Amino acid sequence: MLLLFDIDGTLVRNSAGAHAQALRIALHQVHGIGSPDGDAAGLPEVRSAGRTDMEIAREIALLCDLPAKRFDRRRGELMQVCLSQYARLAPRDLGDRVVAGMKGLLEELHGQPQTILSLVTGNLEGIARVKLERAGLGSFFAQGQGAFGSDSDDRTDLPEIARCRAGAILGGEPYPRQRTVVIGDTDLDIACARADGVWCVAVTTGPLGADGLGGADAIADDARQLRERLQEIGEEMPAARR
Ligand SMILES: [Mg+2]
Repeated sequence: MLLLFDIDGTLVRNSAGAHAQALRIALHQVHGIGSPDGDAAGLPEVRSAGRTDMEIAREIALLCDLPAKRFDRRRGELMQVCLSQYARLAPRDLGDRVVAGMKGLLEELHGQPQTILSLVTGNLEGIARVKLERAGLGSFFAQGQGAFGSDSDDRTDLPEIARCRAGAILGGEPYPRQRTVVIGDTDLDIACARADGVWCVAVTTGPLGADGLGGADAIADDARQLRERLQEIGEEMPAARR
C-alpha cells in the first residue's frame, strides 16, 4: 500500500512558528506586505492548518489588497524566499518535535514489503525536506516522490499527483486508489483523500479532536493506534497486482 503522510500535526508538532514567520518575511520582501521581520501584528489572521503554503500566502496578500495577478506573477520568487527564510529560522534540530512513536512506526513500515512511504503536505517541497531532515525523518521519504504545496495551491490535487509519482517508478500506471491511504490531522486532509477516492486515517495529534475529523475511514489518537488502523485497512484492501 501507498501511505501518504501529512507532516504538520501528524509527524511533527509545534514547528509552525518559524514556518509562518518565513512566509510573512517572504510576503514583505517580495510584495512589501507586513514588516521586514515577519511580525504577525497588523496582518490578517487566516487559517493555516491543513492548507497549502501558497494558498495561505495568497489569502493574506489578497486581504492586504494585493492584486491577484501580481501575486501569481511573482509566485516562484515568493516560494524561493520562503524556503531560504525557513532554512534560516527553523531550529537545526527538530527531533524533539516528532510526534511520540511516529519515528518507530515509520521505521517499522519502511521495512515492510509492499508498503511505500510517501508524503502529501501543504508545505512547499523544499520546506518539507528541511523540516523532515531536521526532525530526523528525512531518510524515510524518497526524493522525487510525494506531493507538496509547491505542486498545487489546492490540496485536493495532491493525492493524485503522489499516486502518479509512485506509479511512475513501478511501471507507469498511477498507484491504485484502493491501495492508497492519506494520513493527516485536519478536515482538509480528509477532504483531499475523498476528492481522490483514497482511504483516509485521521490522527488527533494536531489541532482537531475526533469530533472535527468525521468522514475519515478511521481515527487514531497516537502512533500505536495508527499502526493498528493501517493494519485493519490493509486487510480490507484488494490484494496488490503482481
Ligand atoms: Mg497537518
